[in-house]
Amino acid sequence: MSLLVVGSVAIDDIETPFGKAVNVLGGSAVYIAVAASYFTPNVRLVGIVGGDYPQEAINFLKERHIDLEGLEIVKDGKTFHWTGRYHHDLNNRDTLALNLNVFEKFNPKIPESYKKSKYICLGNIDPVLQRRVLEQVEKPKLVVGDTMNFWIDTKRDELIKTFPMFDAFILNDSEARLLTNEPNLLRAARKIRAMGAKTLIIKKGEHGALLFHEDQVFSAPAYPLEDIFDPTGAGDTFAAGFTAWLVKTDDLSYENFKRAVIYGSAMASFCVEKVSVDGLRDLTYLKIQDRFRAFKELSRFEE
Ligand code: AMP
Repeated sequence: MSLLVVGSVAIDDIETPFGKAVNVLGGSAVYIAVAASYFTPNVRLVGIVGGDYPQEAINFLKERHIDLEGLEIVKDGKTFHWTGRYHHDLNNRDTLALNLNVFEKFNPKIPESYKKSKYICLGNIDPVLQRRVLEQVEKPKLVVGDTMNFWIDTKRDELIKTFPMFDAFILNDSEARLLTNEPNLLRAARKIRAMGAKTLIIKKGEHGALLFHEDQVFSAPAYPLEDIFDPTGAGDTFAAGFTAWLVKTDDLSYENFKRAVIYGSAMASFCVEKVSVDGLRDLTYLKIQDRFRAFKELSRFEE
């Protein structure tokens, strides 16, 4: 089964209480595509970069067998550059600089060979562009959409207009509160679903995630990590693990959605252990399964 990934492709500067990383690989599409590549050999990436995008990065994506036909390279342009700084509790970050560069003119063009993709993961981009992607594809089986506070702040109505096109919508707790103006997450979830988001996942950082599907709620734990080095990409890799497990199994039952949430949490836990995409460089499917089982043990108890 094929997975179409659309999102930002970036160069990041990241500052955490533990150190600084400059000019490292980032962008929602890169995190998603790399994480998903451990589940399926059929990942297709649509994004835009400038002529300055490092060849080493292209090589890395190719080594992960990611199809780059949809990666537009604007030779005389510069790649999107994001600078972020994390606070002491790592759940809070400030965007210090957002140089959109070629990303400002991003108009996703879906190559002919991608149009029949059965699974789609829409990373954090302008919700208008997310809709434009969906207008170009033929009847996907599942569309997963992600977002971030930036789009809730600047394109709230456009984002809500996109909800009915998502089969599953993922956001974090502070974004859910921001979107609904509702401090209680269950109420916030009810409001977001009333806006048109069918299946909803609210991530709670180091406290796990909630899945809302039909009239059921599933609460997933988070993996207890003592050393979180860089939270960048945690949201994207969660979306990747969630979607890629569904791609791999091609099973959209509620029970399998629950497993997908755990695979999402597992991928996010690998991501935050190292800087940039480094936590995703030397994984194996076996390591991922081991962590999935560790999640199972975390909340297993006898009656
Ligand atoms: P996450 O930590 O999962 O929210 O995603 C982090 C990635 O999102 C970073 O690698 C950034 O390059 C990218 N990013 C930051 N701001 C934006 C934005 N406004 N639109 C798209 N991508 C962004």
